[in-house]
Amino acid sequence: MSFVAEFDALPFSALLRRARHASSAEVSSLLERRPSSLADFAALLSPAAGEYLETLCARSQAVTRQRFGKVIRLFAPLYLSNECINNCAYCGFSRDNAIVRVTLSVDEVRREARALLNQGFRNVLLVAGEHPKFVSNGYLRDCTAALHESVPSLSLEVGPMETADYQPIVQAGADGLVVYQETYDRATYGELHTAGPKRDFDWRLACPERAYAAGFRRIGIGALHGLADWRFEAIATAAHAAYLLRHCWKSMLTISVPRLRPCAGEFQPLIHLGDRDLVQLVAALRLFLPDVGLVLSTREPAALRDGLFPLGITHASAGSHTEPGGYTGAGRDNLHQTIRGRIVEFSTLEGSPALARPTAATGQFEIADERSPDEIACLLRRLGYEPVWKDWDAALSA
Ligand code: SF4
Repeated sequence: MSFVAEFDALPFSALLRRARHASSAEVSSLLERRPSSLADFAALLSPAAGEYLETLCARSQAVTRQRFGKVIRLFAPLYLSNECINNCAYCGFSRDNAIVRVTLSVDEVRREARALLNQGFRNVLLVAGEHPKFVSNGYLRDCTAALHESVPSLSLEVGPMETADYQPIVQAGADGLVVYQETYDRATYGELHTAGPKRDFDWRLACPERAYAAGFRRIGIGALHGLADWRFEAIATAAHAAYLLRHCWKSMLTISVPRLRPCAGEFQPLIHLGDRDLVQLVAALRLFLPDVGLVLSTREPAALRDGLFPLGITHASAGSHTEPGGYTGAGRDNLHQTIRGRIVEFSTLEGSPALARPTAATGQFEIADERSPDEIACLLRRLGYEPVWKDWDAALSA
């Protein structure tokens, strides 16, 4: 049975009731043992558990150090393309947003990767919008093959594909796939995805299983917080993770906890996940899923990241750019604007000051922590953690 079938059978109402109304006595007795069920996890998300936040954080820190040591794995996103045929209301790359777009050539991708290698990164996440014409699986295979020798850990965050379409990319050297469900709330999902193949909730939900079948060694999931009730999203994410741990057990699993950031289109969060709630969420995930990697991105501000690093985080991005060509200016010669999905060359728009030729593509969202990778590495050392730039080599699986 795939997770899609299991998902629909989950007792969400009862779990959500527990996440909202677990009593202090229930939480207190739960802290005496390891949480072992979704009902336990839901209780850890409750306001009553929030009263025990210090205890939760201390437990989370201890479990993380026991399972992962005092290390944080650093990675950087490398945006290949911001073309997209989907309309996702919360994303700057949405088809209908009039933004500056580009797809990097394979040589330009090499140039961007060299800049990241010079900063120390050996773990790179290739990111692209969903556009079969610009971002085909052949293009992704070629980008992967071009970087495989120099970047030992290469993951992808791109539009979901069939297993057979992933396989050449895995063979070319990609070892990880990240696919966020965005929101696990079907109704909200339907309202926010108004055009494009991403409208198919189930196709996306089953994507991690297709990625596993294709041979990806690392799988990343998560919800984008700010779209639906955060406790519901957390329960659904944890259920998804528990399913993947049972059925895709040869892969390493990570969960990311991104919150919405400002972007083109000016979408406003529908729900607020506060800083304190985010800390509680990280601790609850760690206690329920002790062996799952937890990812923290530069979406979060520096002070909050510094506080979260020692509490359960295992992977973090640093110095990120969310626009293709952001590290070197690559692709500058091929910038264009799209208007409702139609390419409009700047040359045809001359005379309009608002459409003067730009010098960079539009980013997916604004980052909050703008510190350099070096500054993050120094900070981690000061906190007593080892920043790890490389934790994998193809020779290990040869
Ligand atoms: S979230 Fe992904 S699929 Fe949706 S518009 Fe942005 S890049 Fe495209």
